[in-house]
Amino acid sequence: MKMSIFKISTPVNKLAACFLNRGIASLSALSETHQMLQKTCRDFAEGELKPIAAKVDREHLYPREQIKKMGELGLMAITTPEDLGGTGLDYLAYSIAMEEISRGCASAGVIMSVNNSLYLGPILHWGTPKQKETFVTPFTTGEKVGCFALSEPGNGSDAGAASTTAKEDGSHFVLNGTKCWITNGFESEASVVFVSTDRNLKNKGISTIIVPKPIEGLELGKKEDKLGIRGSSTCNLIFDGCRVPKENILGEPGFGFKIAMMTLDAGRIGIASQALGIAQASLEVAAEYASKRLAFGKPLTKLQTIQNKLADMALQLESARLLTWRAAWLKDNKKPYTKEAAMAKLAASEAATFLSHQCIQILGGMGYVSDMPAERHYRDARITEIYEGTSEIQRLVIAGNLIKEMGIN
Ligand SMILES: Cc1cc2nc3c(=O)[nH]c(=O)nc-3n(C[C@H](O)[C@H](O)[C@H](O)COP(=O)(O)OP(=O)(O)OC[C@H]3O[C@@H](n4cnc5c(N)ncnc54)[C@H](O)[C@@H]3O)c2cc1C
Repeated sequence: MKMSIFKISTPVNKLAACFLNRGIASLSALSETHQMLQKTCRDFAEGELKPIAAKVDREHLYPREQIKKMGELGLMAITTPEDLGGTGLDYLAYSIAMEEISRGCASAGVIMSVNNSLYLGPILHWGTPKQKETFVTPFTTGEKVGCFALSEPGNGSDAGAASTTAKEDGSHFVLNGTKCWITNGFESEASVVFVSTDRNLKNKGISTIIVPKPIEGLELGKKEDKLGIRGSSTCNLIFDGCRVPKENILGEPGFGFKIAMMTLDAGRIGIASQALGIAQASLEVAAEYASKRLAFGKPLTKLQTIQNKLADMALQLESARLLTWRAAWLKDNKKPYTKEAAMAKLAASEAATFLSHQCIQILGGMGYVSDMPAERHYRDARITEIYEGTSEIQRLVIAGNLIKEMGIN
């Protein structure tokens, strides 16, 4: 059963005015719907994700049962309209849910994020009714997940340099080339793939094709052995004469680069939210430990140095959360949000790295061993500064937009 109880009862404008006027990201500023969603996700993360997160990480296990349950809760298609099988909520709801799920297990967070924003997002926006029927509705329940294939061995940040090609052959495209680092690569049953249909046109020759999986002519590379988010699979998609019906093209030919960039704008709000979840978990572990651990006859929380660390951690976390919610609010209100999503991702991912680093420091030796979750949070945090655009790329996006807004060169 999907959580159709989560109807947006407070208009988003009122909501935004509420938390912007107060200047704080307090829970009480959220609508009832958002608070209820947050509680549901938090309870789920406490009961179902936290207990398995260490094992999932240690053994590189895809948390299949938990993803299915997340599908039943409506979390695998939060912004997908209800008539297509989704939950029909807004992007702020997606951000809140992503944070809570990632607070319990960052691997579950990225699996959810890729399905919601990178896979379903572009199909919802540019798909035909038939494409939505085939490639959206069956991917809303957690039974099936999708993936997004943009990066290649020769180009990551420079996404416009795609060398995977799709050549027309009668009623089909024939795909050749390799996509790398693909999250959900192993489990996914369809992929949004970016290919060059005309290499002379560079990024204006990139098109987007939905490729079902398994399919002849598509092999998977090895499962990458990663630093963090080890419960999510990452692998190459190797296309060798893979024939895909022409009707699977998403949007117009040559429109793929724009689709990729617009999809990543939205995706960055999801990754910012994943980072907030890791940061929040780090703060909680650190504060709880500090309140119990005695040094020089008193709890660590009585030491001003530790208090300063906790204060800096809370400050970075809450600042990043406000930026993230602002980006979500702008998207929900159909305002430009490219710069704000990049700011949110940059601030939240750097906050996750900072907070998880400080968490280990506060735990001392116990922060360095896997008996405690601190070292996992630290490993999980690092990826949020890399995927969906590195921190360096976010700074380029922010500066580029800023310069444009200010009308300077
Ligand atoms: C675990 C994981 C999961 C991923 N999942 C996916 C996925 O599902 N789908 C997908 O398509 N991709 C995915 N990626 C790929 C990811 O998005 C890229 O790794 C990322 O965009 C960086 O590209 P790159 O690794 O090629 O680094 P490069 O682009 O080679 O960058 C290397 C360094 O140079 C810097 N740099 C590059 N260009 C500039 C510039 N112009 N100015 C300043 N600095 C610059 C970068 O910031 C970085 O520090 C994933 C990656 C990982 C590790």
